[in-house]
Amino acid sequence: MTDKNVQILLPKPFDIPFEYAVPEGMMLAVGDVVKVPFGNQKSYGVVWSFQSQQLENKKIKTVLEKSDAPTLPENTLKFIHWVADYTLAPIGSVLAQVISVDAALELPAPKIGYVLGEAANTKITAKRQQVVDALEKVNKPLRVQEIALRAGVSDAVVRAMAQKELLLAKEIVEEAISDIHHETKQVDLSSEQQAAVDALRKNVQANNYSATVLDGITGSGKTEVYFHAIVKAMEMGKQALILLPEINLTSQLIQRFYEHFGFLPTSWHSGLTPAQRRDNWRDIASGKARLIIGARSALFMPFPDLGLVIVDEEHESAFKQEDGVIYQARDMAVARAFIENIPIVLVSASPSLETIHNIECGKYQAIHLHARHGTAILPEIEVVDMRKEKLPAKYFISQRLKELLSQNLAKKQQSLLYLNRRGYAPLTLCRTCGYRFQCPNCTSWLVLHHPPYKADYLQCHHCGYSQPSVENCPECKSQTLAPCGPGVERLVEEVKEFLPNARIEMMTSDNVANLQHAKEAVEKIEKGEVDIIIGTQMIAKGYHFPNLTLVGVVDADLGLEGGDMRAAERCYQLLHQVSGRAGRHELKGKAVLQTYMPENMVMQALASNDRDDFNHKELQRRQYSHIPPYTKMAAIIVSGKNEGEVSALAKQWVRNALNLSKNNNKIKILGPAPAPILLLRSNYRYRILVIADRDINLQQAIKSWLSVSKPPSSVKIKVDIDPYSFY
Ligand code: ADP
Ligand code: ZN
Ligand code: ZN
Repeated sequence: MTDKNVQILLPKPFDIPFEYAVPEGMMLAVGDVVKVPFGNQKSYGVVWSFQSQQLENKKIKTVLEKSDAPTLPENTLKFIHWVADYTLAPIGSVLAQVISVDAALELPAPKIGYVLGEAANTKITAKRQQVVDALEKVNKPLRVQEIALRAGVSDAVVRAMAQKELLLAKEIVEEAISDIHHETKQVDLSSEQQAAVDALRKNVQANNYSATVLDGITGSGKTEVYFHAIVKAMEMGKQALILLPEINLTSQLIQRFYEHFGFLPTSWHSGLTPAQRRDNWRDIASGKARLIIGARSALFMPFPDLGLVIVDEEHESAFKQEDGVIYQARDMAVARAFIENIPIVLVSASPSLETIHNIECGKYQAIHLHARHGTAILPEIEVVDMRKEKLPAKYFISQRLKELLSQNLAKKQQSLLYLNRRGYAPLTLCRTCGYRFQCPNCTSWLVLHHPPYKADYLQCHHCGYSQPSVENCPECKSQTLAPCGPGVERLVEEVKEFLPNARIEMMTSDNVANLQHAKEAVEKIEKGEVDIIIGTQMIAKGYHFPNLTLVGVVDADLGLEGGDMRAAERCYQLLHQVSGRAGRHELKGKAVLQTYMPENMVMQALASNDRDDFNHKELQRRQYSHIPPYTKMAAIIVSGKNEGEVSALAKQWVRNALNLSKNNNKIKILGPAPAPILLLRSNYRYRILVIADRDINLQQAIKSWLSVSKPPSSVKIKVDIDPYSFY
């Protein structure tokens, strides 16, 4: 028998912690990581409280051991609570975001770096020589990534040399934090940049909560400016966190940071190997890692000493996590900064309307950067009316864009063709009987893919279902199947036809499948080995190519499809961002938007470069329509295999909710309606939308509705607070 019980929260989808007994002699504190028996397995968990419920007759299990992982800081625990309350996710699921790596909780393995081996006399390739040269300057083992960055080669070159024993493995003895020298590259800031730096450094110095929007056109030096704020935080011995919307962006930023400061930041995202995750988690939790660059999951790290949070490209909808715990990482980052009582900086060239609204309400301060650095100026935007083009069926590039592409090629400058459609064609249709290839699991067409070294196939971009492409129509057997509409693969064909000598690099998630691929493709472009980049979403953001001067948006209307409440805003931001890829250096850039709706407000705003007017009109529309940011919103998604059951249950759910909120005219419940993609991964889905005035506790209302009845196990009810996707 022991005299003390504790509540242990497990990283599993439970709303409450479980009670365990503490074995004699074990000293525990709130936040300690422990191992406990759970069912017939063992699980890590976190000491949540000492409020024993004295469950006498129940057989209480005993804590097995205390992990030597750092105790989770009080503010991290508060944050877990806050996120669970806000998102209505089980608190155990939120904890799972924090202690996501079991191995991290075990003793870390020694870190391995590499030094020069003996065999350096033999003749080696130029790239390998670069590695040798880089390592000759240092006399301590360095990690693969760091060697690659110093030598200017890919990680693979370094790994291959290690395998051939040209490099030898050696344990890295950690430097004390004070030993890290910040070899800050000196840049002359413009007066506008200097003012921004001063303001941010003052906030960091104040060391309490503040939210600042760093709003500046692409290329105005926002990154440069926030680097200076980060240095301030590090000088104060604090940790700083940079959140990025996508992991593809982390490597260019890490490289830039490394060039600037001469040390490697710690990264945190889903692309890490298990060993990297273990090491990095430990470094972050112990406070050894001073700068953390990561995707949204980095927000949940147990920082002992966070002093600054930066959210770069804050307007990106990729900050919304759509599975598991559903959260908006930018908003949660603001909450985290508030709980930690530290400054947060939201960075964007086209801030979200939510953020603009928060500036107008006085919740956020704003700093503006108006000028591009140096001689670079914003690209000129030209709108091409595709209704006048009358292109033949298989062609998608206007005469004007063709001309500009040829001219740019002749000038030896790079161009980017942007189309957010993977594959060859979004739809395949039979010209005889009208048959269309559809996914058996989803309400969606199959996309034709035409990969260079593989057979053609048809794929669903929602669930991944795929089948080989066929010659004959499955319905009428005639050979009249025709691909309809453009995908990036088809654009490659079209460009090759009129510019046979152009060197083309296609960048989509299909052929740039991982960080290493992305890095290689970026290197090729940087070295000028590419004339025309043809890419999807993944190329739209963050990249900086000095010789890129022309951007062609093949279908500018694509983002307006579907027409959800953020369609116009998102379309504007995306096109603004894509256009911003052009002319980021001395060379003047141009962006061409091909559209069938040249009079649309989004195209007009882009062409006249009047962002503020666009935002103003869009906010007015939202206020008038009584939708966010002027109201709160939640989506309830009811799903299951049996459509009748799902629809009946969704109706019942709405009836219950209406009953419970009868007298409340501040809450509107809309639906249920079949989701636009009714069938998704073999599940039928019905959507309900809840809109409430800002002074209503929406979470509490939904919680009370949810508690009325439990759905049968065949139906799932998902709550999405602040929804971003409406499909
Ligand atoms: P943004 O983040 O606003 O797009 P960046 O910080 O990436 O802008 O700056 C764009 C480019 O201009 C980068 O290559 C950056 O190094 C350079 N740059 C910006 N400000 C300065 C400066 N004051 N001195 C030298 N280079 C600068
Ligand atoms: Zn047919
Ligand atoms: Zn599908």
